Amino acid sequence: MPQSHLVAGETTPATPYDSPLLRPLYLPGAHLPDSAGHVWTCRTCATPWPCPTAQPYLQAGRCSTCSAPTQWERNGPRRWHVGPLCYTRKDVLNALAEELHQQHMANPTYPPSHYYPEKPRRRRRQRPPYDHTPMGPGDIQPGTWLWVIPGGLHPGWGDIHRLAMLTALGTPYCEVWMDDTTVHRVRPEKLIVSDAGRQAARAAGLTTIRQRSGPRPRPLLPEWRWVDWTLAEHIAHQRQTTPTAEPTEQPVQDELFTVA
Ligand SMILES: [Zn+2]
Ligand SMILES: [Zn+2]
Repeated sequence: MPQSHLVAGETTPATPYDSPLLRPLYLPGAHLPDSAGHVWTCRTCATPWPCPTAQPYLQAGRCSTCSAPTQWERNGPRRWHVGPLCYTRKDVLNALAEELHQQHMANPTYPPSHYYPEKPRRRRRQRPPYDHTPMGPGDIQPGTWLWVIPGGLHPGWGDIHRLAMLTALGTPYCEVWMDDTTVHRVRPEKLIVSDAGRQAARAAGLTTIRQRSGPRPRPLLPEWRWVDWTLAEHIAHQRQTTPTAEPTEQPVQDELFTVA
């Protein structure tokens, strides 16, 4: 190695920082500035910073506010404002707070996740005595636990999935009961059956809801697609399977009207 030979021959040990190939990529920490005094000095060389070692790592500039000399690291994100700072931390924080305050005063409903409009009045009810777990497509009755998709409720009730119990199944609107005892009318497209169907199927011993073979996004088996249906799809399935099967009125006690 010629480099080590040269180092051995020199009286003052040549640092590897002289060679642009051998020197480290970033400014070594030993040659960072000591900013305690009025004039910044190098921590190792005791010369005014930037010292000759730190010089090739830095690019000199001027502060845009106070035109004090600045040093920007060439290979990294560090920047040094040589001399006293033109802004203290308190000034910076106050300016940021003032800017955010002005922004908030200009549009108080932004960001919308922190802003909820007034909750409108809703009927309240004790927990209905229904209990039903869907075991197949179209098997939806009052008592089914559902997820209300964001957008199903009034925005005052939040934009997250809410758990609710079905109390009345209807076409334009279904009626659901929520845990805070409020009663809501929700469109069936905004209602998804909760995980109870899957859990009941697992409890019954069924383990294959998804396809075992095939590439990675494993879809639900065709006979299990219904666990992801919305209530609108369940209602459509109910109408398909029972196409207007109106029970015709049958006289129960026919013999009463027969003339003997
Ligand atoms: Zn130095
Ligand atoms: Zn400055």
